Amino acid sequence: MGRLEGKTVIITGGASGVGEAASRLFAAEGAKLVIADLQGELASTLAKEIGGDCIAREVDVSLNDDVENLVNTALESFGRLDVMFNNAGVGGAEGLIHETPEEVFDRYIATNLKGVWLGIKHAIGPMLEAGGGSIVNTASVSAHLGIPQQGAYGASKGGVVQLTRVAAVEYAESNIRVNAICPGAILTPLVYNNPDLDYKLDVEDAKKQLASAQPIPRACMPIDVAKTALYLASDDSAFVTGTTTIVDGGWTASGVARLADRIGPREN
Ligand code: NAD
Repeated sequence: MGRLEGKTVIITGGASGVGEAASRLFAAEGAKLVIADLQGELASTLAKEIGGDCIAREVDVSLNDDVENLVNTALESFGRLDVMFNNAGVGGAEGLIHETPEEVFDRYIATNLKGVWLGIKHAIGPMLEAGGGSIVNTASVSAHLGIPQQGAYGASKGGVVQLTRVAAVEYAESNIRVNAICPGAILTPLVYNNPDLDYKLDVEDAKKQLASAQPIPRACMPIDVAKTALYLASDDSAFVTGTTTIVDGGWTASGVARLADRIGPREN
């Protein structure tokens, strides 16, 4: 029996990167799945490929009505909501704080922090009705390290970690668990094909560069993070709440905050 058999799951940012890996893994573990993403077509294509009890919705997680409708879609389609994986996020090179446009700060906070807040807010009602649930939020090592040129991103992810703690305590008695994952650098389009970066990397080049971004000498793959999300989503973590699980190959343990000088375009 799959570890998510009988459970209905929403994955935001579910069409790409970590979310795509989680969509495939969670479906294989028996979940009924709603893949939610700003990239609606990509989400639909993935849902069709996965097949079975898997549907897609085009959603902007920063918009209250979109997230409310998303949760209603899960309820109408599958009758309940057991797991909310608040994973959608944006990030990129912001520049130093005094150089960062206000629009960038507002967009990162709206998607990464408010999006998670809305995901929690709207998932709680159905989970209370169902007698419990698990909420998993994707934060980042940027919540723990002072990474230069990630002021807005780091603030948004620090906010996610704190929101996770508060929600975990508020709903512990209702059997709703809330946990965060803090990944290091992962081989996803956010790193190699991101409109918020002024460069694009060849995937294989990015993979090589990421291999030296942390003590474990290989790139972190989306499935590394998706497997942690599966643990936190499933009943295997039944007594785990309010935690942040760091999935970074030892990066934060090494205490090195700089990333920008390790990953990016190379002269040769
Ligand atoms: P990705 O770009 O492959 O996937 C992110 C997905 O989120 C995309 O499909 C995108 O369309 C979607 N999205 C963006 N804004 C959205 C919105 N407003 N509403 C709905 N969907 C939206 O990147 P990823 O690396 O898989 O990112 C997943 C999560 O992991 C993000 O929260 C990111 O901040 C976090 N993270 C990534 C890294 C990394 O190095 N890639 C490191 C730490 C944390």
